[in-house]
Amino acid sequence: MSSESSARSPVGLLSTLKAYLLRERERGRLYLRLSSEAKKNWEKFLLAHPSADRPGSPSCPAPSQATSPPSSEVMPVDERRKQLEKLAQTVAKCCRCPHLAATRTQTVFGIGSPSASLFFVGEAPGAEEDRQGQPFVGPAGQLLTKMIRAMGLEREQVYIANVLKCRPNLPEGTLGNRRPTEEEVARCLPYLHEQIEIVRPKAIVALGGVALEGLLGKKALQVPPGQPISISRFRGRFLEFRGIPVMPTYHPSYLLHNPSIQQKRKVWEDLLAVMERLGLPISQRQREYFLPKPSK
Ligand code: SF4
Repeated sequence: MSSESSARSPVGLLSTLKAYLLRERERGRLYLRLSSEAKKNWEKFLLAHPSADRPGSPSCPAPSQATSPPSSEVMPVDERRKQLEKLAQTVAKCCRCPHLAATRTQTVFGIGSPSASLFFVGEAPGAEEDRQGQPFVGPAGQLLTKMIRAMGLEREQVYIANVLKCRPNLPEGTLGNRRPTEEEVARCLPYLHEQIEIVRPKAIVALGGVALEGLLGKKALQVPPGQPISISRFRGRFLEFRGIPVMPTYHPSYLLHNPSIQQKRKVWEDLLAVMERLGLPISQRQREYFLPKPSK
């Protein structure tokens, strides 16, 4: 193949685009505006060349090719740690979502014990997570740490990861967080699945609708396409992901915006159910958190 035809191959075109985006990022340009026609052409390109940004392209290896965790449930902890490190290296180089690869500071893989019994799944990194490279380190993360401690555990004893490993980009000059698109979630999900496969927890807590949808999918939850998942509808009862009990509950950032005792109590009831399922000790005081105190 001539160098010209290789440059025009799907992989060659993607490499050229990636180099261009990286150059622009080095110049301090964090956002590119695409006309609607350019967006349509990009989507057409991806549809015509499904392997171009999919597992198997040289720069974006498939998670299953990057690591092959033994299917046995009993994997020594050192081996689990190694598998997670290897997967984290793959994720750090991932460019399946070129727009996110071009705008992230770094990927946010996950953190915690490689043999944790309890696995928390969140949505996507926020600004602080993107800066520090760790999940749940902003205000919502501090609340999650308090929730974990209230269960009698430390952050280091559980595993925490998001559905999306890159911060969802925002239009230039805007602040806040953006909900990941279904396409972004679909591309990133295999990494979360591998993390769960390696850690093999005894229970998962899905924090918010995106986490629940990412784990179980709308079809299994009987939510019509195009409709968002209402976490209020699913919280409080166990579902299942590949044989592992999943407790859906509100995302800590929801509690930060709705800090009523009633909402806090709902989340705490969900966590109490998880503690029971894991056989963790529960004191009377813990059972009564956020319950109205009898008047004297
Ligand atoms: S969000 Fe996930 S799939 Fe997309 S570029 Fe980041 S690591 Fe890769």
